Parts: sequence; structure tokens; C-alpha cells
Amino acid sequence: MFSALSFAAIVLIIGVAVDAAYSSSMGARGDDGWVGETRRVLAEMTGPRERTGGEIGADQIISLGVPAYNHLLDRVSEESSYALTFFADGMPLIITGELSKVVPFGGVTLEFDDFRSSGYAKGMIAKASGFLPTRWLKWIVCLNRERKLTAEIASRGEYHRGRIRTNNLRISLHELVHAYEDKPFASLENKLRSEFYERRTSGKKLRRLRGITNLYFYGPKEKFKAGFVYRYIGKDRGVELMSMGIESLMWNRFDIWNRDPELTKFLLGMLIFFGRNTNSADSAVSSFKNPPYLRSDFSG
Ligand SMILES: [Zn+2]
Repeated sequence: MFSALSFAAIVLIIGVAVDAAYSSSMGARGDDGWVGETRRVLAEMTGPRERTGGEIGADQIISLGVPAYNHLLDRVSEESSYALTFFADGMPLIITGELSKVVPFGGVTLEFDDFRSSGYAKGMIAKASGFLPTRWLKWIVCLNRERKLTAEIASRGEYHRGRIRTNNLRISLHELVHAYEDKPFASLENKLRSEFYERRTSGKKLRRLRGITNLYFYGPKEKFKAGFVYRYIGKDRGVELMSMGIESLMWNRFDIWNRDPELTKFLLGMLIFFGRNTNSADSAVSSFKNPPYLRSDFSG
């Protein structure tokens, strides 16, 4: 006769066996190796070198993204071969689920001006916020503490001084990246973005997006340089490199993981480096009480 106790013991034994099989398959595939490798590269970057003047360059950011890239490439490629919808969240959930082993993602409530915002747009933006590092979201909240974010539905996405226009999840994430880039003192982020952009586009001519594409939603002054899988990624001065890049990374748009490994690694490195948890970063966010639009010298 089976007693309740022996049944419990059998369940326990099966549980242990399944657990052991699971962890050995994880080990065999080296799934956790990339986490250790990422931490090692990060420790090198944030060691004495950083303290003596921040000599971080685009190449170091790319190296930081390499372990995550190698770990995720097969999975992303495989999922992309199925019916891929840019408006579903399957792919970004896979990618951020893995990246959150090294950097916290989401978990921050964005505050909106409810009177002037669309509930539908707010919902999409809130969902998209799960695909950005927690530290970036804290900055967005901080920057918009006084004016509050507004969310609107529009045919073309836009970010301008706390106002986000969107019509889907992918664009919502794109505009949130612009909202993060609105942060002052982003000199290292901007330096790295420019370095990568200049390297890719050196010697290339500025060309008008509207003239080349015949798409009239582009303004007459919007220009790009060739050098990327999609023209808009190459918009003048690299202003769309991070926003278009992270959007493309999270949904594997243009098959960017296979067609532009260097940019993909750079973007992964940027998410990890500027999303990492450090005491000094957290205190910078919490002590920041003077958003640029409240300062008298703000003209942007
Ligand atoms: Zn943009």
C-alpha cells in the first residue's frame, strides 16, 4: 500500500531527477557561461580605468555585448523563422528575459498626465517599458517628474519634451529610447553613439530620406547616410541609432541579428553598460532634482 508519505517521497525523487537533468542540460549548453563572461568584461571596464577618466570606447561596448549576442543568436534566428509579428511581444520577452540575468529590466511605473493622454497609448507604452533597463526608466520618470509624460495616438511615432506619440508596441519602445536620451549629462552615451555612427558612415554623403524613398511622411530636411540595413537607422548625426537600433534588436527587424552583428553587439553592450546596477548610478538618479526644462538656461 502506498502511504501519503511514500507518494510524497516519490514525487520528491522525480522532482530532484528532473531538476538535475535540467541543470545539466543548461550546463552542457553553457547557458550561464555568458553571464559570467559579461560580468568579467564589465568588471574590466568599470575597474581603475573608468575611475581615471572614462576611457570607454565603442569597441569595449561591442566586446561587452559579445557574450549575450553569442548566447541569444541561435534562439533569435530560430524564432524569427516562424511567423514574426512586430506587434506581438514574444521576441522582446525572450531577449529581455535573458538579458535580465545581468541587468534589471522594467518594473517602473511611468507617470502620465491622464487628462491629456490616451488610455490606449498609455497601455502600449507601459507594456513597452518592460523592454528597457530599469535604470533607464528611472531616468525617464525623473526627467518628467514635473511636467509628466503625455501619450497620444498618431500615425507616425514621435517624442518631444515628454510627449510620446505612438500606435503600436514597437514604436512605443522606440519613443521611450528617445525619452531616455533626453537626459542631460548623457555625454558618454552620446560620445559612444557618435563614435559608432561616424565609424560606419565616414566618407558617405548626406542624402534626403524623402527624395530617396518617395515617402512623404519624411520631412524635407530629414537626411541619412548609408551604412546600415535600414536608411532611417543612419539618420543624420546618429540621432536614430539607439532608438531604431533597440527597436530592431528587440524584434529582429531587418534580421539585424544576422545582417548587422556589429551593431547588434554594440546595442546589447549599451543596454548592459548603461543599465547596470551601481550605487553611484542610483544616487545620480535619486539626487537629480532639476530637470532641464525647469532651468532658466534651457533652450532646447
Ligand atoms: Zn526616432
